Amino acid sequence: MRAVLAAEPGVANGGLGEIDEADLPDGDVTVKVAWSSLNYKDGLAVTGRGKVVRSFPMVCGVDLAGVVVRSEAPGVERGDEVIVTGFGLGEERHGGYGELARVRSEWVVPMPAGLDMRAAMAIGTAGLTAMLCVLALEDHGLTPERAGGRPVVVTGAAGGVGSVAVALLAKLGHAVTAATGRPEEEAYLRRLGAGELIERRQLSDAPVRPLDKERWAGAVDAVGGTTLATVLRQTAYGGCVAACGLAGGAELSTTVHPFILRGVDLAGVESVRCPIRRRVDAWGRLASDLDRDLLDEMTVEAPLEDVPGLAEEILAGRTRGRVVVAVAG
Ligand code: NDP
Repeated sequence: MRAVLAAEPGVANGGLGEIDEADLPDGDVTVKVAWSSLNYKDGLAVTGRGKVVRSFPMVCGVDLAGVVVRSEAPGVERGDEVIVTGFGLGEERHGGYGELARVRSEWVVPMPAGLDMRAAMAIGTAGLTAMLCVLALEDHGLTPERAGGRPVVVTGAAGGVGSVAVALLAKLGHAVTAATGRPEEEAYLRRLGAGELIERRQLSDAPVRPLDKERWAGAVDAVGGTTLATVLRQTAYGGCVAACGLAGGAELSTTVHPFILRGVDLAGVESVRCPIRRRVDAWGRLASDLDRDLLDEMTVEAPLEDVPGLAEEILAGRTRGRVVVAVAG
Protein backbone atom coordinates (compact mmCIF):
# COMPACT_ATOMS: atom_id res chain seq x y z
CA MET A 1 0.00 0.00 0.00
CA ARG A 2 1.06 3.62 -0.60
CA ALA A 3 2.61 5.42 2.33
CA VAL A 4 4.84 8.39 3.20
CA LEU A 5 7.98 7.05 4.86
CA ALA A 6 10.40 8.77 7.23
CA ALA A 7 13.82 9.77 5.97
CA GLU A 8 16.42 7.34 7.26
CA PRO A 9 19.61 9.19 8.26
CA GLY A 10 22.34 8.70 5.70
CA VAL A 11 20.42 6.07 3.76
CA ALA A 12 17.42 7.45 1.98
CA ASN A 13 15.21 10.46 1.68
CA GLY A 14 11.74 10.25 3.06
CA GLY A 15 8.90 10.28 0.64
CA LEU A 16 6.21 8.33 -1.05
CA GLY A 17 6.89 4.60 -0.88
CA GLU A 18 5.20 1.26 -0.41
CA ILE A 19 4.64 -0.85 2.68
CA ASP A 20 3.15 -4.32 3.04
CA GLU A 21 0.01 -4.76 5.08
CA ALA A 22 1.78 -7.73 6.70
CA ASP A 23 4.30 -5.27 8.19
CA LEU A 24 1.70 -3.32 10.13
CA PRO A 25 2.33 -3.49 13.88
CA ASP A 26 0.31 -5.52 16.37
CA GLY A 27 -3.04 -4.20 17.47
CA ASP A 28 -6.64 -5.26 17.82
CA VAL A 29 -8.13 -2.62 15.51
CA THR A 30 -7.38 -2.09 11.80
CA VAL A 31 -8.43 1.22 10.27
CA LYS A 32 -8.81 2.20 6.63
CA VAL A 33 -7.33 5.68 6.85
CA ALA A 34 -9.30 8.43 5.16
CA TRP A 35 -7.51 11.54 6.44
CA SER A 36 -4.40 12.45 8.36
CA SER A 37 -2.80 15.83 8.95
CA LEU A 38 0.51 17.63 8.81
CA ASN A 39 2.04 18.59 12.14
CA TYR A 40 5.42 20.03 13.07
CA LYS A 41 6.60 16.63 14.28
CA ASP A 42 5.64 15.08 10.92
CA GLY A 43 7.90 17.67 9.31
CA LEU A 44 10.78 16.48 11.49
CA ALA A 45 10.04 12.80 10.78
CA VAL A 46 9.53 13.02 7.02
CA THR A 47 12.68 15.12 6.47
CA GLY A 48 14.75 13.15 8.98
CA ARG A 49 15.53 16.28 10.98
CA GLY A 50 15.18 15.80 14.71
CA LYS A 51 15.31 12.35 16.22
CA VAL A 52 11.60 11.67 16.00
CA VAL A 53 11.90 8.25 14.34
CA ARG A 54 14.40 5.63 15.45
CA SER A 55 13.46 2.50 13.48
CA PHE A 56 12.99 2.24 9.73
CA PRO A 57 11.07 1.95 7.52
CA MET A 58 8.46 4.02 9.33
CA VAL A 59 5.13 5.24 7.98
CA CYS A 60 4.85 8.84 9.20
CA GLY A 61 1.70 10.65 10.31
CA VAL A 62 1.07 11.25 14.00
CA ASP A 63 -2.70 11.15 13.58
CA LEU A 64 -5.47 9.63 11.52
CA ALA A 65 -9.22 9.48 11.03
CA GLY A 66 -10.74 6.52 9.28
CA VAL A 67 -13.17 3.62 9.26
CA VAL A 68 -12.63 0.42 11.25
CA VAL A 69 -12.29 -2.53 8.86
CA ARG A 70 -11.34 -5.17 11.43
CA SER A 71 -11.71 -5.27 15.20
CA GLU A 72 -11.13 -7.87 17.87
CA ALA A 73 -12.05 -5.40 20.60
CA PRO A 74 -15.39 -5.19 22.35
CA GLY A 75 -16.84 -1.73 21.87
CA VAL A 76 -15.06 -1.01 18.59
CA GLU A 77 -17.09 -2.24 15.62
CA ARG A 78 -16.37 -2.68 11.94
CA GLY A 79 -17.69 0.43 10.18
CA ASP A 80 -17.06 2.78 13.13
CA GLU A 81 -15.51 6.14 12.27
CA VAL A 82 -12.63 6.76 14.64
CA ILE A 83 -9.82 9.19 15.49
CA VAL A 84 -6.40 8.08 16.70
CA THR A 85 -3.61 10.51 17.60
CA GLY A 86 -0.29 10.15 19.39
CA PHE A 87 0.67 7.01 21.32
CA GLY A 88 3.79 6.73 19.14
CA LEU A 89 1.89 6.79 15.83
CA GLY A 90 4.28 7.90 13.12
CA GLU A 91 7.18 7.79 15.58
CA GLU A 92 7.47 4.31 17.09
CA ARG A 93 4.89 2.51 14.94
CA HIS A 94 3.41 3.02 11.50
CA GLY A 95 1.17 6.09 11.48
CA GLY A 96 -1.51 7.82 9.48
CA TYR A 97 0.24 8.44 6.14
CA GLY A 98 -0.60 4.94 4.90
CA GLU A 99 -3.83 3.53 3.54
CA LEU A 100 -4.25 1.11 6.46
CA ALA A 101 -3.21 1.46 10.09
CA ARG A 102 -3.26 -0.97 12.97
CA VAL A 103 -3.77 0.45 16.46
CA ARG A 104 -4.79 -0.56 19.95
CA SER A 105 -8.42 -0.24 20.86
CA GLU A 106 -7.61 1.72 24.04
CA TRP A 107 -6.24 4.56 21.88
CA VAL A 108 -9.37 4.88 19.76
CA VAL A 109 -11.57 7.98 20.11
CA PRO A 110 -15.05 7.46 18.61
CA MET A 111 -15.97 10.23 16.18
CA PRO A 112 -17.74 12.85 18.30
CA ALA A 113 -21.20 14.03 17.25
CA GLY A 114 -20.81 17.12 15.10
CA LEU A 115 -17.47 16.15 13.53
CA ASP A 116 -16.73 14.19 10.37
CA MET A 117 -13.45 12.50 9.51
CA ARG A 118 -12.10 15.37 7.42
CA ALA A 119 -12.96 17.99 10.04
CA ALA A 120 -11.39 15.81 12.74
CA MET A 121 -8.09 15.80 10.89
CA ALA A 122 -8.38 19.46 9.93
CA ILE A 123 -8.21 19.83 13.71
CA GLY A 124 -5.75 16.95 14.11
CA THR A 125 -2.96 16.70 16.67
CA ALA A 126 -2.25 20.44 16.59
CA GLY A 127 -5.90 21.28 17.26
CA LEU A 128 -6.18 18.68 19.99
CA THR A 129 -3.09 20.21 21.59
CA ALA A 130 -4.59 23.69 21.37
CA MET A 131 -7.70 22.38 23.14
CA LEU A 132 -5.57 20.69 25.81
CA CYS A 133 -3.87 24.07 26.37
CA VAL A 134 -7.25 25.77 26.76
CA LEU A 135 -8.34 23.04 29.20
CA ALA A 136 -5.13 23.62 31.19
CA LEU A 137 -5.93 27.33 31.45
CA GLU A 138 -9.50 26.49 32.50
CA ASP A 139 -8.24 24.00 35.11
CA HIS A 140 -6.23 26.88 36.49
CA GLY A 141 -9.43 28.90 36.83
CA LEU A 142 -8.92 31.32 33.95
CA THR A 143 -12.18 32.73 32.62
CA PRO A 144 -12.78 35.94 30.66
CA GLU A 145 -14.31 37.42 33.83
CA ARG A 146 -11.26 36.56 35.92
CA ALA A 147 -8.82 37.84 33.32
CA GLY A 148 -9.08 41.34 34.77
CA GLY A 149 -9.30 42.92 31.34
CA ARG A 150 -6.02 41.40 30.24
CA PRO A 151 -5.71 39.34 27.06
CA VAL A 152 -4.46 35.79 26.65
CA VAL A 153 -1.44 35.70 24.36
CA VAL A 154 -0.98 32.95 21.76
CA THR A 155 2.51 32.49 20.32
CA GLY A 156 3.20 30.93 16.92
CA ALA A 157 -0.29 32.20 16.20
CA ALA A 158 -0.38 31.64 12.44
CA GLY A 159 0.69 28.00 12.81
CA GLY A 160 -1.51 24.97 13.47
CA VAL A 161 -1.67 24.97 17.27
CA GLY A 162 -1.74 28.77 17.32
CA SER A 163 -4.59 29.20 14.84
CA VAL A 164 -6.88 26.74 16.66
CA ALA A 165 -5.97 28.27 20.04
CA VAL A 166 -6.81 31.80 18.83
CA ALA A 167 -10.19 30.64 17.49
CA LEU A 168 -11.07 28.65 20.63
CA LEU A 169 -10.05 31.35 23.12
CA ALA A 170 -11.90 34.08 21.20
CA LYS A 171 -15.03 31.92 20.98
CA LEU A 172 -14.88 31.45 24.76
CA GLY A 173 -14.93 35.23 25.17
CA HIS A 174 -11.26 35.95 25.91
CA ALA A 175 -9.47 38.95 24.52
CA VAL A 176 -6.71 37.33 22.43
CA THR A 177 -3.35 38.74 21.40
CA ALA A 178 -1.69 36.87 18.54
CA ALA A 179 2.11 36.89 18.49
CA THR A 180 3.32 36.19 14.97
CA GLY A 181 6.31 36.63 12.70
CA ARG A 182 3.91 37.03 9.79
CA PRO A 183 2.30 40.50 9.94
CA GLU A 184 0.86 39.80 6.48
CA GLU A 185 -1.48 37.33 8.20
CA GLU A 186 -3.13 40.08 10.26
CA ALA A 187 -6.49 39.86 8.45
CA TYR A 188 -6.47 36.04 8.83
CA LEU A 189 -5.70 36.17 12.56
CA ARG A 190 -8.33 38.85 13.13
CA ARG A 191 -10.91 36.70 11.34
CA LEU A 192 -10.04 33.87 13.74
CA GLY A 193 -10.74 36.24 16.63
CA ALA A 194 -7.47 37.94 17.58
CA GLY A 195 -8.13 41.42 18.93
CA GLU A 196 -4.49 42.50 18.77
CA LEU A 197 -1.34 41.39 16.95
CA ILE A 198 2.22 41.72 18.17
CA GLU A 199 5.42 41.03 16.27
CA ARG A 200 7.01 37.74 17.36
CA ARG A 201 10.36 39.51 18.05
CA GLN A 202 8.73 41.51 20.87
CA LEU A 203 8.71 38.21 22.77
CA SER A 204 11.67 36.28 21.34
CA ASP A 205 14.13 39.21 21.52
CA ALA A 206 12.87 41.08 24.59
CA PRO A 207 15.48 42.39 27.05
CA VAL A 208 16.00 39.88 29.86
CA ARG A 209 14.87 41.17 33.24
CA PRO A 210 13.67 39.35 36.38
CA LEU A 211 10.08 40.46 35.71
CA ASP A 212 8.28 42.60 33.13
CA LYS A 213 5.04 44.58 33.16
CA GLU A 214 2.03 42.27 33.68
CA ARG A 215 0.54 42.03 30.18
CA TRP A 216 -1.21 38.66 29.94
CA ALA A 217 -3.89 36.89 31.96
CA GLY A 218 -2.57 33.66 30.50
CA ALA A 219 -0.81 32.23 27.48
CA VAL A 220 -0.74 29.38 24.99
CA ASP A 221 2.86 28.97 23.91
CA ALA A 222 3.80 26.90 20.85
CA VAL A 223 7.24 28.48 20.46
CA GLY A 224 9.27 27.82 23.63
CA GLY A 225 12.79 29.19 24.14
CA THR A 226 13.23 32.92 24.79
CA THR A 227 9.58 33.48 23.79
CA LEU A 228 8.35 31.31 26.63
CA ALA A 229 10.77 32.96 29.06
CA THR A 230 9.42 36.42 28.11
CA VAL A 231 5.80 35.29 28.35
CA LEU A 232 6.45 33.97 31.86
CA ARG A 233 7.91 37.35 32.89
CA GLN A 234 4.90 39.19 31.43
CA THR A 235 2.12 37.01 32.85
CA ALA A 236 0.01 38.73 35.49
CA TYR A 237 -0.22 37.70 39.12
CA GLY A 238 -1.87 34.27 39.44
CA GLY A 239 -1.86 33.62 35.70
CA CYS A 240 -1.07 30.44 33.83
CA VAL A 241 1.08 29.67 30.79
CA ALA A 242 0.20 26.49 28.87
CA ALA A 243 3.38 25.46 27.08
CA CYS A 244 3.27 22.86 24.33
CA GLY A 245 5.86 23.66 21.67
CA LEU A 246 9.44 24.37 20.72
CA ALA A 247 9.22 25.84 17.21
CA GLY A 248 11.51 28.66 18.43
CA GLY A 249 13.81 26.60 20.66
CA ALA A 250 13.88 23.90 23.31
CA GLU A 251 16.02 25.66 25.91
CA LEU A 252 14.31 27.59 28.66
CA SER A 253 16.22 30.15 30.67
CA THR A 254 14.17 31.75 33.43
CA THR A 255 14.55 32.96 36.97
CA VAL A 256 12.13 31.79 39.64
CA HIS A 257 10.64 35.29 39.94
CA PRO A 258 7.48 34.70 37.86
CA PHE A 259 6.69 31.71 40.05
CA ILE A 260 7.57 32.96 43.53
CA LEU A 261 6.70 36.66 43.15
CA ARG A 262 3.67 36.38 40.86
CA GLY A 263 2.38 32.89 41.52
CA VAL A 264 2.45 32.15 37.80
CA ASP A 265 1.88 28.52 36.85
CA LEU A 266 3.64 26.82 33.97
CA ALA A 267 1.41 24.01 32.69
CA GLY A 268 3.14 21.54 30.40
CA VAL A 269 0.79 20.19 27.74
CA GLU A 270 1.47 16.82 26.18
CA SER A 271 -0.82 15.23 23.60
CA VAL A 272 0.97 11.96 22.82
CA ARG A 273 0.33 10.01 26.03
CA CYS A 274 -2.50 12.21 27.32
CA PRO A 275 -5.03 9.88 28.99
CA ILE A 276 -7.90 8.70 26.82
CA ARG A 277 -10.60 10.21 29.05
CA ARG A 278 -9.04 13.66 28.71
CA ARG A 279 -8.78 13.18 24.94
CA VAL A 280 -12.41 12.20 24.58
CA ASP A 281 -13.39 15.30 26.58
CA ALA A 282 -11.12 17.48 24.48
CA TRP A 283 -12.54 16.10 21.21
CA GLY A 284 -16.05 16.69 22.53
CA ARG A 285 -15.17 20.30 23.31
CA LEU A 286 -13.56 20.73 19.88
CA ALA A 287 -16.75 19.43 18.26
CA SER A 288 -18.89 21.91 20.18
CA ASP A 289 -16.63 24.97 20.59
CA LEU A 290 -14.67 25.32 17.36
CA ASP A 291 -16.51 27.30 14.72
CA ARG A 292 -16.63 25.17 11.54
CA ASP A 293 -16.39 28.14 9.18
CA LEU A 294 -13.22 29.26 10.96
CA LEU A 295 -11.88 25.70 10.81
CA ASP A 296 -12.42 25.78 7.03
CA GLU A 297 -10.75 29.18 6.90
CA MET A 298 -7.60 27.85 8.59
CA THR A 299 -7.40 24.57 6.62
CA VAL A 300 -5.82 23.64 3.31
CA GLU A 301 -6.12 20.16 1.83
CA ALA A 302 -3.21 18.23 0.33
CA PRO A 303 -2.85 14.82 -1.33
CA LEU A 304 -0.48 12.27 0.21
CA GLU A 305 2.13 12.86 -2.51
CA ASP A 306 2.49 16.53 -1.51
CA VAL A 307 3.48 15.67 2.08
CA PRO A 308 7.27 15.45 1.53
CA GLY A 309 7.35 18.99 0.11
CA LEU A 310 5.02 20.30 2.79
CA ALA A 311 7.21 18.76 5.48
CA GLU A 312 9.94 21.23 4.48
CA GLU A 313 7.43 24.06 4.46
CA ILE A 314 6.13 23.45 7.98
CA LEU A 315 9.66 23.34 9.41
CA ALA A 316 10.38 26.66 7.72
CA GLY A 317 7.26 28.15 9.37
CA ARG A 318 5.63 28.70 5.97
CA THR A 319 2.43 26.70 6.34
CA ARG A 320 -0.54 28.67 7.63
CA GLY A 321 -3.04 27.10 10.00
CA ARG A 322 -3.73 23.43 9.33
CA VAL A 323 -2.97 21.07 6.46
CA VAL A 324 -5.36 18.12 6.19
CA VAL A 325 -3.96 15.18 4.20
CA ALA A 326 -6.22 13.12 1.93
CA VAL A 327 -4.85 9.60 2.44
CA ALA A 328 -7.63 7.67 0.71
CA GLY A 329 -7.06 9.81 -2.42
P1 NDP B 1 3.41 25.04 12.91
O1 NDP B 1 4.68 25.04 12.13
O2 NDP B 1 2.12 24.98 12.20
O3 NDP B 1 3.37 26.34 13.83
C1 NDP B 1 4.50 26.82 14.51
C2 NDP B 1 4.49 28.33 14.46
O4 NDP B 1 5.53 28.82 15.31
C3 NDP B 1 4.81 28.89 13.09
O5 NDP B 1 3.69 28.96 12.27
C4 NDP B 1 5.34 30.25 13.45
O6 NDP B 1 4.24 31.08 13.76
C5 NDP B 1 6.07 29.99 14.76
N1 NDP B 1 7.52 29.77 14.55
C6 NDP B 1 8.10 28.92 13.69
N2 NDP B 1 9.43 29.00 13.79
C7 NDP B 1 9.69 29.92 14.74
C8 NDP B 1 10.89 30.46 15.29
N3 NDP B 1 12.08 30.06 14.88
N4 NDP B 1 10.78 31.39 16.26
C9 NDP B 1 9.56 31.80 16.69
N5 NDP B 1 8.40 31.34 16.20
C10 NDP B 1 8.47 30.41 15.24
O7 NDP B 1 3.54 23.84 13.96
P2 NDP B 1 2.40 23.21 14.89
O8 NDP B 1 1.40 24.25 15.19
O9 NDP B 1 2.01 21.90 14.34
O10 NDP B 1 3.26 22.92 16.21
C11 NDP B 1 3.73 24.02 17.00
C12 NDP B 1 4.65 23.51 18.10
O11 NDP B 1 3.88 22.73 19.00
C13 NDP B 1 5.79 22.61 17.59
O12 NDP B 1 6.95 22.86 18.34
C14 NDP B 1 5.26 21.22 17.87
O13 NDP B 1 6.29 20.29 18.02
C15 NDP B 1 4.50 21.47 19.15
N6 NDP B 1 3.45 20.48 19.39
C16 NDP B 1 3.44 19.89 20.62
C17 NDP B 1 2.50 18.98 20.93
C18 NDP B 1 2.47 18.42 22.31
O14 NDP B 1 1.80 17.39 22.53
N7 NDP B 1 3.12 19.05 23.26
C19 NDP B 1 1.53 18.50 19.92
C20 NDP B 1 1.55 19.27 18.69
C21 NDP B 1 2.52 20.19 18.44
P3 NDP B 1 4.15 32.61 13.23
O15 NDP B 1 4.45 32.54 11.76
O16 NDP B 1 2.77 33.04 13.55
O17 NDP B 1 5.20 33.38 13.97
